[in-house]
Formats: sequence, C-alpha cells, structure tokens
Amino acid sequence: MNPVFFIREKREGGKHRREDLEAFLLGYLREEVPDYQVAAWLMAAFLRGLDPEETLWLTETLAYSGKVLDLSGLPHPVDKHSSGGVGDKVSLVVGPILAASGCTVAKMSGRGLAHTGGTIDKLESVPGWRGEMTEGEFLERARRVGLVIAAQSPDLAPLDGKLYALRDVTATVESIPLIASSIMSKKLAAGARSIVLDVKVGRGAFMKTLEEARLLAKTMVEIGRGAGRRVRAVLTSMEAPLGRAVGNAIEVREAIETLKGKGPQDLLEVALRLAEEALRLEGLAPSLAREALESGRALERFRAFLEAQGGDGRVVEDLSLLPLAEEHPLLAEEEGVVAEVDAYRVGLAVLALGGGRKKKGEAIDHGVGVYLLKKPGDRVAGGEPLALVYHRSRGLQEALDHLRAAFRLGAEARPLPLILDVV
Ligand code: URA
Repeated sequence: MNPVFFIREKREGGKHRREDLEAFLLGYLREEVPDYQVAAWLMAAFLRGLDPEETLWLTETLAYSGKVLDLSGLPHPVDKHSSGGVGDKVSLVVGPILAASGCTVAKMSGRGLAHTGGTIDKLESVPGWRGEMTEGEFLERARRVGLVIAAQSPDLAPLDGKLYALRDVTATVESIPLIASSIMSKKLAAGARSIVLDVKVGRGAFMKTLEEARLLAKTMVEIGRGAGRRVRAVLTSMEAPLGRAVGNAIEVREAIETLKGKGPQDLLEVALRLAEEALRLEGLAPSLAREALESGRALERFRAFLEAQGGDGRVVEDLSLLPLAEEHPLLAEEEGVVAEVDAYRVGLAVLALGGGRKKKGEAIDHGVGVYLLKKPGDRVAGGEPLALVYHRSRGLQEALDHLRAAFRLGAEARPLPLILDVV
C-alpha cells in the first residue's frame, strides 16, 4: 500500500480495498504513516464519503486495533454513547441509573470534540479522577461497582483515540461514516451486549437535520446488530444546550443535582428515556430507571464510581470541591421571550473560554463554562442576566459575542420536541 496512491484513490471518489484501509490505518497506529497523510485522507473521506462496506471495515479496524473485551459473564452489560452535543452530560446521569438498576455499565468515552464536550474532560474536573486504566482494572471496576468509564487507552480501540484527536483539529468531524465507525468501534471493543445511542440533531450537533441523524443512527444500528449486539438509537434535539450548564466541572455539578432529583427537566427526560431503552434491550422493567433515581441509589453509585477511579467522592455533597472560574453576567439588552438559544454558539463560547481544544492535546480549563439562566420560552426583562459566564479573562470578549448571538429574543417561543425518533 502506497499512502499517496491510497489518499488519491479516495480523493478521486474511489473505493478502497479492505487490506489497504487496514494497512494505512494500522501504519498510522505504529507511527509509520504520519499525521499529515492521515489528515489528508480524512479530508478526502469526509468529502467523498465511505460506502457501507468501507464503513464496516473502518469500524472493525478501529475496534480490533486493541483488545476487544468480553463482558458476557457480568450482569446485564450495557453501554451508552452520544454522537456529541453541547451541555450533554447525559452519560453522567444514565450510567449511575443503569448501574443502580442491576446493569453493568462498562464504557469508553471520548474527550471534547470541536465545539462539543466530552465525558472524560468533564469527569477529570473531579479532583483525582482518572479515566486511564488497564484492562484488568476496567473489568474489576465493572464487576465491583457496576459502572466504569475509561478514556481511550493503548488497550481499547487505540486507533480511534488517535484518529479522533486528529479529526478534532482538521475539520473532519461531521461525517456520518467517520462518526459511526468511531462510536461503534468503542462500543464493540468495550464488549457490552446492549447499546443505546443518543443521536443528537440540530444546530449544536454534528447532524443538523433529522434525515442525516436518521442515516447516522441506522448506520450505527446496522454495524452493531451485524456484530451481534442489541442496539437502539434515540434521536434527541440539540437546538439548544441540554440543561443549563455548559463546560466541564459545571456540567458535573448539574449531573449531581440531577441525580439528587434537582436537575433540569430536559436532561432528566433524555437520561430516563435512554436508561429505559437500555433496560428494555436487556429484558428488564423500564420502571427500574426512575426507582434507581428516586431512591438515591443512582447518586450513591455515582459516588462509588468516582472513588473507584481515584476521584474525591465528597464532591457529591460538597459541590465547591469542583473548580469554578470567575463569574461574569451576560445581560439582556431588551425585554422579550427567549425564542432560541443556539447550542452551537454556546459551544463556541466555552471553547473560546478554554473549556475545549483548538489544537491537539491542548490543556483545557475545567473551571470555565456558561450557565444559562434563561432557556427557550423564558421571559426576560431588559438588563436582566441571561447567562453567567465563568472565565479566567482569556476569551471572555469572544465568548460574550458568541453568547449574544446565541440568544434570540422574540414575542414568543415555539416549544420543540426533545425526543424526535427511535431507530
Ligand atoms: N463521538 C465519538 O465517539 N466519535 C465521533 O466521531 C463523534 C462523537
């Protein structure tokens, strides 16, 4: 396989052979093929697409670039993944709910991607918490706690970790075959029997239309079922951020409040629906999800999970242990009803504050973020705060500009459904 010929083949819209695709990408994993050639291929694949067969080969190459775990000996092994959103802390709520409902949630998560946040970045705002672990630790925590979340490691789908970081900084994220293979490779490698996928749709998502989102959902469901897993995808709206908190530590805070029954309604609705779908896939009663939450067992499971991964479990009672930068209010310039809060713009605001990465491997600031005091449908008076911006000077002006553009005031707001479809 000649990397230049391989890249040219896709640039011209051709179809790869399985062995070339494997040789090129495994060469990247071994550092024989450099970043710049893979970046060029990613852009060609982004623009020309990959057909279903190539997408499946890519998924398998990513999944088998490391170990593929077998969780079949553990009770009800389930996994959940989101295609990426703004304020999307659903995994932090669904994971503990499912673990407290008798399932084993053993999942691999990513870091922030483009303007969207990542579960690992969020959890790393808990003092001491670590997502890196060996296969043995992963399995032991899955068995003992019922919930384990690993960062991409040299053990599980390492090639996806490398590609993911490269896509993030080469404008090659929003591609159905690249997203589907990235997500499903992690799901296949982590070994769960049942998988629920939260496919986000709208301005703040990578899929802007329902048609694109359905295609992504179907692609992932087919890959998973083809690999013998039980899979369901729920399409949920990402026009406005989910919940009110967008950032890292600030999202962990909101997830804890939700586990205490004091969270925002939209986050709760999506989290419960995904948990219920996962329970159904496992042949368990969907009502277990609400019971796990309302009994406080889900919150306790979250604490046990944080502690098992080195985190300070006291954050569950004492939210001040989470970092929070300096507060600056964004004031409404006029009165009206909030018609829209553009999730994409809010995501860009957090990126500008340093809550996400513009370059590969960049350090992020876990304490920055945005708290939305007003959401669509809320009335606001002139001069009243719309949002609180947590910043450390860097990027404040840019973030405020994005946020001003994110809020659209009107005479009234049209309520939008949150759950759009199930595939
Ligand atoms: N989440 C992933 O794991 N991969 C993507 O490509 C997008 C979202």
